[in-house]
Amino acid sequence: MKKKEINNQCIVEGCVNEKHQGGFMGDICVPCYNMITTGKIGNSTNFVAKLKEQNELLKSLLRNATIKIESRKAAEAADEVLTEFLYDVDMLRVTSNLAKNLGIYEDEIYRES
Ligand SMILES: [Zn+2]
Repeated sequence: MKKKEINNQCIVEGCVNEKHQGGFMGDICVPCYNMITTGKIGNSTNFVAKLKEQNELLKSLLRNATIKIESRKAAEAADEVLTEFLYDVDMLRVTSNLAKNLGIYEDEIYRES
């Protein structure tokens, strides 16, 4: 805080604007004042701009995590469909074998008589 008083800088953490460089509202420079009062964050080195940057990073991480979860769900659903299909194919084979076996039986019965 001492350094800021000597340099006549804006009192907002991370801001490097000095009073002789532009407009001030008391000890706060106009860009910082506007950011704090409007919520619209411009290009700045102050902590508000850094918070916005971190917030954007968190949002993108969350988006990527959501995409990964959605693709995993889709893969699980596809796996479920494939498992059901393979079960159906297997049941078809069992039924086909049973019919074949019954056919063989019938042939044998006809041969015997
Ligand atoms: Zn400032």
